[in-house]
Amino acid sequence: MDLQPVLDDIVATLEPQLGAGKVASYIPALASVSPRRLGIALRTREGAEYRAGDANTPFSIQSVSKLFTLTLAMRHLGDTLWERIGREPSGNPFNSLVQLESEQGVPRNPFINAGAIAVADRLVSCCDSARADILALLSSLSGETIVFDEEVAASEASSGFRNIALANFMKSFGKLDNDVAQVLDFYFHQCSVAMSCVQLARAAAYLCSDGRHPLTGEAVVTERQARRINALMLTCGTYDAAGEFAFRIGLPCKSGVGGGIVAVLPDTLSLCVWSPGLDETGNSLLGMKALELFVARTGLSVF
Ligand code: GLN
Repeated sequence: MDLQPVLDDIVATLEPQLGAGKVASYIPALASVSPRRLGIALRTREGAEYRAGDANTPFSIQSVSKLFTLTLAMRHLGDTLWERIGREPSGNPFNSLVQLESEQGVPRNPFINAGAIAVADRLVSCCDSARADILALLSSLSGETIVFDEEVAASEASSGFRNIALANFMKSFGKLDNDVAQVLDFYFHQCSVAMSCVQLARAAAYLCSDGRHPLTGEAVVTERQARRINALMLTCGTYDAAGEFAFRIGLPCKSGVGGGIVAVLPDTLSLCVWSPGLDETGNSLLGMKALELFVARTGLSVF
């Protein structure tokens, strides 16, 4: 199937809706991004790349970074990672505090903020520099130099009251080993990373090739770990909309409040869509529609 016309058509179909949704404003540095952007990029397992719309424009990857910190943590820690983090959908917003109290500071999964902060804590413990390691992983996977956006990181730090609360709450249950400030410094930096759809589609390619690096073929994670990451993306990657994503799209996805969504069809392709306007669950409104159109037009879905 020629995928280029499919991507071009998705962008053309959604063009009249550009600007729909609400750009995340609780992180001040994200509030100024134009909602009238839409990009889509795709990479097949064989390495063919396709792109349409604003596919080369870097954006704030935000929670899409949780995919890659989870990958690093699974590589370093194996199954011990799961002593402090669950693997169930939360059914709650990504930044919710409510379950943490009744579940003694153990977050439901690694993709809600509490879970990602718990992963960040483990990485701060086991890496010489967690910051350097995440940039090295993303740069290696995408084949380009990836950096933090220090303005976004500072903006998150100055407005991250909920994340500060979540981290302190977990610390009070004895579930964080490191200083809250140190863990959050890493967490805010991982969220601030700027990447384009093309770079993210390539960076996620190991998830559609049994854990193998898209450019070198080396193991990024084992085949079993890649399968597990995909399972977590499907069940938890889009927070309390994960059921709706599975129903409407049927691909493992990981979203972020910058408006990016990475999706994977195991053994076949990885793709990334970006449009900054969000729906009420914090997922990209047009990004979700673009994925829905993609699956409808190609029939490519895990179901
Ligand atoms: N940095 C954002 C936060 O901590 C990430 C949330 C998201 O992308 N869903 O709130």
